[in-house]
Amino acid sequence: MYKRILVAVDFSNSCIKATQKAKELSEKYGASLDIFHAVEYLPQVDSSFGGVSPFDVDLTEQLIETAKKHLADLGKRFSIPQERQWVELGSPKSEILRVAGDIKADLIIVGSHGRHGIAVLMGSTASSVVHHAICDVLAVRLPKE
Ligand code: AMP
Repeated sequence: MYKRILVAVDFSNSCIKATQKAKELSEKYGASLDIFHAVEYLPQVDSSFGGVSPFDVDLTEQLIETAKKHLADLGKRFSIPQERQWVELGSPKSEILRVAGDIKADLIIVGSHGRHGIAVLMGSTASSVVHHAICDVLAVRLPKE
């Protein structure tokens, strides 16, 4: 039924649960499994403190490198090869959808914390992906951390 599954992880402890589910489904359907993390842009330094320093760029690159290492660890644990590990810079909501489109994923798996109240009004990554994806989306309910 599914040929290419993309699981989006934020590296919280509970993202293991979503990755585990993605692995099970990929095995069940004989689908390939890709894993994705978005490194969000760092807020710009206020110009009254001397402008944006190159330090921000270094820090962003460090975050990307760290994310690649975390994905490599998850990849090892769940047998997801390096060419199916994706780290992109940008908003998780839009980058999950962009990468899913680029690799022609037919199922996106995200974690859902089942937030209520103000967080619902603001919109979570999971609900945005559910509303805007052009393929199926599975939101795996995650335990509170
Ligand atoms: P949220 O609603 O923002 O707490 O995130 C819920 C789910 O969205 C997470 O379990 C991930 O599946 C996905 N997600 C959130 N942030 C990221 C990120 N930086 N990179 C990839 N996926 C993310």
